[in-house]
Amino acid sequence: AKAEGRNGIAFFEAAMQADVERRLTLERALARALDASQLCMHVQPQVDRDGRVTGAEMLMRWPQPDGSFIAPGIFIPIAEESGLIVRLGHWALREACRAASLLAQAGRPVPLSVNVSPAQFRQPDFASRVQAALAEHGTPAGALILELTEGLLIDQRDASLARMRELAALGIRFSIDDFGTGYSSLSYLTSMPLYELKIDKRFIDDTPHDTAIVQAILAMARHLGLRVVAEGVETQEQADFLVAHDCDGLQGYLYARPMPLADFLAWLARQQA
Ligand code: C2E
Ligand code: CA
Ligand code: CA
Ligand code: CA
Repeated sequence: AKAEGRNGIAFFEAAMQADVERRLTLERALARALDASQLCMHVQPQVDRDGRVTGAEMLMRWPQPDGSFIAPGIFIPIAEESGLIVRLGHWALREACRAASLLAQAGRPVPLSVNVSPAQFRQPDFASRVQAALAEHGTPAGALILELTEGLLIDQRDASLARMRELAALGIRFSIDDFGTGYSSLSYLTSMPLYELKIDKRFIDDTPHDTAIVQAILAMARHLGLRVVAEGVETQEQADFLVAHDCDGLQGYLYARPMPLADFLAWLARQQA
């Protein structure tokens, strides 16, 4: 039994070692891909109740030689652990500003939402980097919506609030991503310069069978004067319920999957026609 236990521990350590090595390999490859300009951003539209485009979210993709993509759900957590997320996130911001200027040139200046990781937001030079990215492409601050997570707003509330106010003064807008998933404290909602809440897909999945949370979020947002976007809208039934309850924005496969910027421009042109 003793030997067996030792073997068990040895097996466990070997498995942990393999996991650490797998992560390290992935992280190095990701850093190389970033340096070699191999990453790209896909764009997923958001529409209003009448199907008109109101914005779009920028989502990172890591293309592979075989034409497939490694999903951000795999590489973003690894980048967050290693700190590489700061460089990745800054690149994503610049890409969003570049995309915004192309959209403006095409006569369709829809605001673009960019995901910002807590570690990236907490960089001392974050605000000046946002300004530099905007200036690089002559992009107005109103073209960007930064998606933050609840954890960031609660854990370092004062620092986050000061930073948000600084950026909000420039015209940058803020959205809370995955709203309702992590924290029970809602008191931050009234003091932060917020524009929007994004209802997490898990609550949309429950719609229209179990709508208590979605209805509570929509009612609360209305009282607070915040815009609400539902993410992960996949069925017409979900859309109908959300529209009937005055949800402002709808995002999901029902309308469009995330797509390359060139495809998004073509998609926009079709919507207009
Ligand atoms: P998220 O910010 O919650 O993004 C929404 C995710 O839901 C995206 O997954 C999108 O493709 C997916 N989605 C949208 N509509 C539907 C739908 O109708 N059905 C289903 N099943 N899924 C839908 P994606 O692109 O794989 O991104 C996963 C997560 O990775 C994002 O979740 C975000 O947290 C993170 N991420 C992506 N790009 C970036 C980035 O540039 N920076 C940072 N920090 N995180 C990013
Ligand atoms: Ca998001
Ligand atoms: Ca989300
Ligand atoms: Ca989510």
